[in-house]
Amino acid sequence: MTSVVERLPGGSPVFSVEFFAPRDAADEAVLWRAIRELEALDPAFVSITYGAGGSSRDLTIRTTGRVAQETTLLPMAHLTAVDHSVAELRNVIGWYAAVGVRNILAVRGDPPGDPHGEWVPHPEGLTYAEELVRLCRELGDFCVGVAAFPYGHPRSADLDADTEYLVRKLRAGADFAIAQLFFEPEDFLRLRDRVAARGCDALLLPGLMPLTTTRTLAKTVELSGAPVPPSVARRLDPYADDPAGFRAAGIDLVTEMGERLLAEGVPSLHFYTFNRSKATREIVGRLGLVPARSV
Ligand SMILES: Cc1cc2nc3c(=O)[nH]c(=O)nc-3n(C[C@H](O)[C@H](O)[C@H](O)COP(=O)(O)OP(=O)(O)OC[C@H]3O[C@@H](n4cnc5c(N)ncnc54)[C@H](O)[C@@H]3O)c2cc1C
Repeated sequence: MTSVVERLPGGSPVFSVEFFAPRDAADEAVLWRAIRELEALDPAFVSITYGAGGSSRDLTIRTTGRVAQETTLLPMAHLTAVDHSVAELRNVIGWYAAVGVRNILAVRGDPPGDPHGEWVPHPEGLTYAEELVRLCRELGDFCVGVAAFPYGHPRSADLDADTEYLVRKLRAGADFAIAQLFFEPEDFLRLRDRVAARGCDALLLPGLMPLTTTRTLAKTVELSGAPVPPSVARRLDPYADDPAGFRAAGIDLVTEMGERLLAEGVPSLHFYTFNRSKATREIVGRLGLVPARSV
């Protein structure tokens, strides 16, 4: 099976998609519809998030394994250090390998229940993603990704410290990083410049979410940690009570972000799909990122 970095060539740009781990059978059905609808567009890889605990973790493992075994897609499994001893983490990584998953996004995770609460490591576990990267590397020939934050991770003292820790994760053995949501292409490009200024030339992929509803806009504020900037508010505010107008303006805006990022040499765009495919299909179609036979 190829690795994520092997699927991100220099030639023509590509895209990838992220799904969240299903919580139950109904979620799973919705997810599989989106997976099948996107399969025809040949994304570079698909990633599946790692849930806060229990059955959603089993479903991450099962779903990534099914993607590996029953589709033409390249899966990447997320993994967090939340509530896991090192022995359990070794086990999960072993399951991934056993079901044919060779790509892992190693993230620390947030405290369960209150994402802003105090991080308490498992007594026999890990404290930072950097350590999880090392563990994955130690255990096999995995291609490993990490998370990056254009506005800085909320727990980082400042952008300088944030960049320092990102570069440390990358140097610990990660092959690439995927950025959290942001509002303007320059926000991602500045992150790329900060990393390059530290002599690190690792691959950074921007994360984009189709802005189809006021809810997705609020989710972007929540996940990015930044308020809606005037440039975006000017375009979307007029449609606050017009769902169809909002969707059209939001898709235009994200398409333009993609155009600018590709023009700046970004080799691939990563889409947070929230387990739906229609808006992502529209945007990647408009950006010319899909095989000619599927448009
Ligand atoms: C693309 C992407 C995918 C994600 N997928 C998931 C998922 O599947 N499941 C999930 O639960 N969450 C997921 N998250 C959320 C992520 O788990 C949280 O944002 C978490 O708070 C940070 O994870 P991290 O890997 O960046 O942590 P870390 O890199 O460990 O950083 C955590 C904090 O510690 C600081 N830090 C790092 N190293 C050091 C050090 N050596 N000394 C002192 N401080 C340090 C950092 O600056 C940061 O403030 C994802 C985020 C992104 C961007």
